[in-house]
Amino acid sequence: MLNLVLFGPPGAGKGTQSQKLIEKYQLVHLSTGDILRGEITQGTTLGLEAKKLMDEGLLVPDAVVIGMISNKLDANKDAKGFIFDGFPRTVAQAEALDGLLASKNDSISGMIALEVNDDELEHRLLLRGKESGRPDDANPEVIRKRIVEYNSKTAPVANFYKAQAKFKSINGIGSVDDIFHSVCGVIDTL
Ligand code: ADP
Repeated sequence: MLNLVLFGPPGAGKGTQSQKLIEKYQLVHLSTGDILRGEITQGTTLGLEAKKLMDEGLLVPDAVVIGMISNKLDANKDAKGFIFDGFPRTVAQAEALDGLLASKNDSISGMIALEVNDDELEHRLLLRGKESGRPDDANPEVIRKRIVEYNSKTAPVANFYKAQAKFKSINGIGSVDDIFHSVCGVIDTL
């Protein structure tokens, strides 16, 4: 199986690249942000709890997202592989993901990080906020909070995969197609 972790700060382009990758490699896309927004739309208890944190730019608890991913892995037993987008976002989530995959005799093939500087991220997120209507994209303070959460809790996840020699990084600035070309180049080496 091809199991990819797409990594990078909010606004790095993970969702955009995921859409192209699932088509080319026939993978199942698992975005914890999308799954959480689905729960909010459906008005579930989980969604209501998560919304409070997401609107403030904070992470939702590890146990919640790990449970969601576990369910999705079980629901897609015939998948050729997965793209994990926005997950794992903490080292505890990365450890849990390794455990879930190991229990299925599987593992992560590689992590691909999209490198984008903070100024460009803020600019992209404010622009996306106007189009997507996502409340967490509309407010500059919340955007900065998400970047702080990223730097303190999520950035260390890169070291987790570096220690397994699974970390690859590419420049996330440029045209969508050029970046996709770089991502595919990395996948071909895995
Ligand atoms: P972005 O990467 O642009 O911030 P996402 O859609 O991935 O957007 O995430 C939106 C919000 O959903 C995050 O700010 C966080 O509150 C919550 N979230 C998504 N994935 C996770 C996760 N793996 N762990 C904890 N919280 C998460």
